[in-house]
Amino acid sequence: MSFRTAESLLKFRSQIDAMAPGRDKSNDGTIGDTSHQARPSDHNPNKDGVVTAMDITHDPRHGVDAGELAEILRLSKDPRIKYVISNRRIFSSEKSPWQWRPYNGANAHTHHVHVSVMGEKALYDDTHPWPIEPRAKVIEPPQRRPGGRLTNITATVSAARPNSSAAPTTTTSSPTTSSASRCRFTSAARARRYGCPIP
Ligand SMILES: [Zn+2]
Repeated sequence: MSFRTAESLLKFRSQIDAMAPGRDKSNDGTIGDTSHQARPSDHNPNKDGVVTAMDITHDPRHGVDAGELAEILRLSKDPRIKYVISNRRIFSSEKSPWQWRPYNGANAHTHHVHVSVMGEKALYDDTHPWPIEPRAKVIEPPQRRPGGRLTNITATVSAARPNSSAAPTTTTSSPTTSSASRCRFTSAARARRYGCPIP
């Protein structure tokens, strides 16, 4: 039977290769060796012939700190993750979700990080980039609210103008308006991020 590696994991590895081109790959792995084949392991192909686990070598000198990578994955809560093992610790998205627990398996995973992805094809073959850019390089688009904020401020000013014979302090009401327009999110996640009411 032919087998292949889950697409999400190939994407994961290609991102790591791009980040750390000179990295050691001696403990990398996808398909299980004979010891893996003797027991249930995501390194063995599933019923569709797909391997849903990958090992990435710990090589901090060349840009791959396996423990750090594991922690980035844990914090990412990426829905593709099933579980990750690194340096005598394991976290899972299912059991005690996203919490480190001690790992007492025969292989302490001090030379590589193990990543298993979920069993559904829609997840294991999802090739969206993994959020594993180096620290402090969080990928976040600039706050673009197409036209929204500026248009609203202009509208407020021109609306306030006819009444400007009244106390000039009326203009101080504009921040309220702009904070309301600030909160026009259609996505609950974005609204939450900016402390706005969930749409
Ligand atoms: Zn492994």
